Amino acid sequence: MTLGVDIDKLLRKRPKKRIEGLTPNDYGTLEKPRICIDRVYFSVYSDELVGELIGKNFRRDVYEDYYHLRTKMQDDKGYVQGLHFCLCEFEGDEIVWMNLSLREPHIAIVYVNFIRYYRKLRKIPKPSYGYYDTNFLPLDLDDKDKLLDEFCDLYLFVISDLRGIYAELIEKLFGYKINSEEVIVNPFSVELPLEYLGHDIAEYEWLSDVARCKNMVKYSDLTRTMYFNKHSKKITIQMKFYQKAPGIARLELTYHNEFAKRYFNPDVSKDVLKRNILMAIDDALEYYGLSLDQIKPLKLDHDTLLSQFAIAFGLDVDILKTLIYGNVGEITFNKDNQGLRRKLLAKGLIKKGDKRGVYVPSELVRFLKTALGKYVVCKDCGSLMFFDDGKLSFVCPSCGFVKSV
Ligand SMILES: [Zn+2]
Repeated sequence: MTLGVDIDKLLRKRPKKRIEGLTPNDYGTLEKPRICIDRVYFSVYSDELVGELIGKNFRRDVYEDYYHLRTKMQDDKGYVQGLHFCLCEFEGDEIVWMNLSLREPHIAIVYVNFIRYYRKLRKIPKPSYGYYDTNFLPLDLDDKDKLLDEFCDLYLFVISDLRGIYAELIEKLFGYKINSEEVIVNPFSVELPLEYLGHDIAEYEWLSDVARCKNMVKYSDLTRTMYFNKHSKKITIQMKFYQKAPGIARLELTYHNEFAKRYFNPDVSKDVLKRNILMAIDDALEYYGLSLDQIKPLKLDHDTLLSQFAIAFGLDVDILKTLIYGNVGEITFNKDNQGLRRKLLAKGLIKKGDKRGVYVPSELVRFLKTALGKYVVCKDCGSLMFFDDGKLSFVCPSCGFVKSV
């Protein structure tokens, strides 16, 4: 007696599902993002002063002379009064500033908005679109290698400038002569944007399913921001992916403390800095179980999905289309299309209405409309399009392109 077990049959592999063909690999080639440096905070100090001024006196005399510049700030010992200096203004905002502690040894905190400073230097006009702010470069600045190169130059140039400014202020305000070349400038928070141009964040939403993180927060406003590990205070490299402006899907990495200091150390050559930045990206993505060449847009093609659904429902595409987009209210059937009635009913696409013999579209139809609506991307500018019930068409909110269903 045997059980008559067919081992080969037991070990038969699971058949591939249709959906498995629909992977990001089917779309696009590896695309390099546009990388630049955005907002950075530095701490600035002089080892000479730190060595000498152990007393940590508060300079009340200077405080009184420059009372109009006073500001509350934090130095290495905690909250303290300092002086605020605007180092660069642009379009009515302070884009570079320094807070200098009045407590010895006079540590300074500096903020630099590199993107806006770059725009100021290059006379690049303020973008007139953008969802919540205009802190980005226009879409046509797409020479990615040149841009990263120029931002590295700018970063090192600004830092060398900061050394001189700090040394001069220290001398003029407090009377200590220090060597400006020895001034230490340490970044402690660096925003690094990686931008995919001509794309919509919807094309990258699949990343939220594969990224390794403890929690994920998504917003449904225009930016459709995905925060990876939003609530974790321990994470020293933060990642978020959002729609900065129409056609700019921005993956933003923010490095804090030790990580910022390690990767964005300014005491290196431009080429080394560039290499460090690329390494910083690799390391941050690796932390989330991702890599740059993995981050490809998933082709979101409404028509393909619609025909897939039609096949799944065993329906003609046009009938499904009409049902979803045709503003169908009540549906009646005659004796010739009872087959269709039965089919729609069996698939749950219609349900009985109030009157006898009258049917209405079901919740499933509304669901399909919402779900499919996420996959219509404007072929001109890459924005996610919205269905306009009045026009019975998809309309691009950014450039106005109309696509009929
Ligand atoms: Zn458009």
